[in-house]
Amino acid sequence: MISAQFNTDDAKWNAVCENNSDADGVFYYAVITTGIYCRPACRSKSPKRDNVKYFNTCDDAETAGYRACKRCKPTAITKTGATEQKIIRACRIIEESESSIKLDDLAAQVSLSPYHFHRLFKKIVGITPKQYSSKHQSRRFQANLMTSPSVTDAIYSSGYTSSGSAYDKKRDQLAMKPKAYRKGADGVTITYGIAHCFLGWVIVAATDRGICAIEFRDNSETLPEQIQARFPNAQFKKADTAFEALIKEVVDFIDSPQSTLQVPLDIQGTAFQQQVWEVLKQIKPGETMSYTDVAEQLGKPSAVRAVATACASNKLAVVVPCHRVISKAGKTGGYRWGPERKKKLLQLEKETI
Ligand SMILES: [Zn+2]
Repeated sequence: MISAQFNTDDAKWNAVCENNSDADGVFYYAVITTGIYCRPACRSKSPKRDNVKYFNTCDDAETAGYRACKRCKPTAITKTGATEQKIIRACRIIEESESSIKLDDLAAQVSLSPYHFHRLFKKIVGITPKQYSSKHQSRRFQANLMTSPSVTDAIYSSGYTSSGSAYDKKRDQLAMKPKAYRKGADGVTITYGIAHCFLGWVIVAATDRGICAIEFRDNSETLPEQIQARFPNAQFKKADTAFEALIKEVVDFIDSPQSTLQVPLDIQGTAFQQQVWEVLKQIKPGETMSYTDVAEQLGKPSAVRAVATACASNKLAVVVPCHRVISKAGKTGGYRWGPERKKKLLQLEKETI
């Protein structure tokens, strides 16, 4: 088997001579005499080896002053192309698989070398195939917990090999143990408190791991129902004095967008949702991004609708600033807690910056 790692000068040069498409996205080569850089598989005339320089990314090549070849369009690869299709196919295989699949097998199924596959997957999806698989297993596991006759059944039908490994993986992703989650948070205590802020009534709810929801409503009486619906069997506890202090911190944070909130969060979501929310957290007060911008930043320009859905699934109002994502035409766009609140938040941020 030919080494597909392309980590030596010789391997790179061979890939260029062979127009090896397996090296696409792994590195780029530039030709000193023409000032142009290409994908290894470019069909343009082979350069002299002495005139070639290698770069890991298009950005690196452009920073060094080279222009993209018009023939092989090296910058186009991350937007559309066969490579991305292969990675999308790998995602589907992972999602549909009953058990975890070895990296080598996955790579073989989409006709890529394991090294190349791993690298491209991380670049396009944002996490490794293993992390992606683990997230999906845990999502299936959560769904199974609700429908299976017992926790053990749920564990095995989700592809986990032993109950121990399911508990281990869950530790980072679920605020409560599987048995509790299956029963709609039975035995889990969620503390909540309600306060008033400039956007109306706000409820702050937390497990013992951190804040799990911040939500708005016009009517304070119906706010607890909103949280109880998510965890139908949890024990609900009204805020004590210590919790009141936490609520005050959250309200202060909502009122002054420039401040920082130093409290633990218990954020739950799918791998994709978490990626979207990470991007949102980087948007500074007073700044906005469009749904398209976010999709592009994730390297998934066609995922605009999925980004909008992830924004609408946010449970931590203002802390995960989904209000800073607006429609492309500059219109405010939708907001889980009503467009009026979104407008007010954006207005406040504009004024205080
Ligand atoms: Zn080219």
